Amino acid sequence: MKQAPASLKRESADVVVVGGGGSGMAAAIAAAEAGAKVILLEKNPHLGGTTRLSVGSITATGTRFQKAKGIHDTPDEHYEDMSLFLSPELQQKENLELRRVLVDHVPETLEWLIRIGLCFYGPMPEPPHQKPRMHNVLPNSRAYAYYLEKECRRLGVDIRLNARAQRLVMNGDAVAGIVADAGQGPVEFRARGGVILASGDFSAGTELKKTNVPHVAHVDAINPASTGDGHVIAQQVGGWIRNPEVMWGPSMRFKAPPVETLLRRLPPSRWITKPMQFALMNLPLWMFRPFVTRFMTASLAPEPSLLRAGAILVNRRGERFADELARPELEVPKQPDKEAFLVFDGAVGERFQRWPDFVSTAPGVAYAYLKDYQRTRPDLYHEAPTLDALARQMGVPAEALRKAVDGHNESLPGGDTRQPIRQGPFYALGPVMSWIVFTEGGLAVTARHEVTTPDGRQIPGLFAAGSAGQGGTILAGHGHHIGWAMTSGRRAGRFAAERARTA
Ligand SMILES: Cc1cc2nc3c(=O)[nH]c(=O)nc-3n(C[C@H](O)[C@H](O)[C@H](O)COP(=O)(O)OP(=O)(O)OC[C@H]3O[C@@H](n4cnc5c(N)ncnc54)[C@H](O)[C@@H]3O)c2cc1C
Repeated sequence: MKQAPASLKRESADVVVVGGGGSGMAAAIAAAEAGAKVILLEKNPHLGGTTRLSVGSITATGTRFQKAKGIHDTPDEHYEDMSLFLSPELQQKENLELRRVLVDHVPETLEWLIRIGLCFYGPMPEPPHQKPRMHNVLPNSRAYAYYLEKECRRLGVDIRLNARAQRLVMNGDAVAGIVADAGQGPVEFRARGGVILASGDFSAGTELKKTNVPHVAHVDAINPASTGDGHVIAQQVGGWIRNPEVMWGPSMRFKAPPVETLLRRLPPSRWITKPMQFALMNLPLWMFRPFVTRFMTASLAPEPSLLRAGAILVNRRGERFADELARPELEVPKQPDKEAFLVFDGAVGERFQRWPDFVSTAPGVAYAYLKDYQRTRPDLYHEAPTLDALARQMGVPAEALRKAVDGHNESLPGGDTRQPIRQGPFYALGPVMSWIVFTEGGLAVTARHEVTTPDGRQIPGLFAAGSAGQGGTILAGHGHHIGWAMTSGRRAGRFAAERARTA
């Protein structure tokens, strides 16, 4: 708990936000709306964080989209359904107070996002949710960064890029500010109302991973900026991480598209998203699907159901390297170039052309099928009448691929639900890599998003939001992380602004 040396350059604001992803920008906007002077520190040269890399779904109830389809849905039902995603062990660990905060406030968050310019399509079903309540952003998740930044600027939030927060400045037991390296040496940013840590998760935090999730310490993160800085900064003043061992995956994901097409580069303006939304809601989906799927930008994850149906994994040498049903994602990072391909035959290919068998979730259309990949991702999609021709397309030795397929077909135990790979055309999707997408462990916080010590004492002036302030809530399923990032960010921003008025 260092006091800053007198020589340090100083600036001051009512609220200082660390991190310019979804939760940080939402916090900055809410604080500014409440009349606070806000400085937002972002260590990257651009805003957006993991939020900008995501698929972009947000799950909420009682929405205008649900009402338009005659679906009556409530936060209470949402609260109950969230348990259906969790094992009894995880249910024991969850912070239910924060789950309540999420389900009660995410409906207004969605409305607020629409008010500031975002456009959604939905609601889409996502079992075991008992009602369709997943909403997908149009045209892709970059829209979050675009509209949140626009709103920050409209409200006069002082955005500092390339500014990495390092340590808190204390005044007795209370947080008085934060020191950040903003390019020309450290600067002390004083915050009358508080500092909000919105610095994302720790999927790229070497030491945090070694300590908390050592079995995946060797696996890369999708967002290398997610180094858990906020977790570490808060720990230095008594904060602690709830559920640090809980994480999803690592998961296999296709690489993001290699080439930025003109369509993907277009700003997500309402001139594009409104007609897209109209078409998706009112016209037969097949007419617009090809257009909408061309905006897919995220690293999409092939569904495990593809492996359960009979797809096998081979590496760049054409060799099978793992039992596909026994956590193969832990083995992918050990393969040449850390890459693999999913290989399957015509029977599986035919199945994954329509609901309920989708290849991955996808921005805009919610679910992407094999045909969507054929159309939009020729870099990943391989199809051929024979295995030898498929091997040539993939650039792997044909003999090794044949051996891998034969070995799989012969070794399938009786009663296995997987199909042998026999019938052409043959398909490969890939390369896929294995990444930690996000970690669930976040700083322990109160329902007002104030960081607490292990004995429950609140650290005055310190707030946390988004993944950094996940506080023990366990966000399984799609659309809960973004819901939490935006909801907790807005609330933390409001509470910090309130503290600035009364401090
Ligand atoms: C491929 C992928 C798909 C996903 N799809 C979905 C989905 O469809 N729906 C869903 O709900 N969730 C999804 N998620 C998860 C979701 O995107 C994240 O959980 C959420 O966006 C996190 O928001 P955040 O604001 O907490 O963190 P981030 O958006 O990561 O923002 C944190 C920011 O803090 C900055 N930062 C970090 N340390 C410092 C520091 N010391 N000083 C200054 N700045 C710092 C980072 O650079 C970053 O910009 C997905 C994630 C991935 C990777």
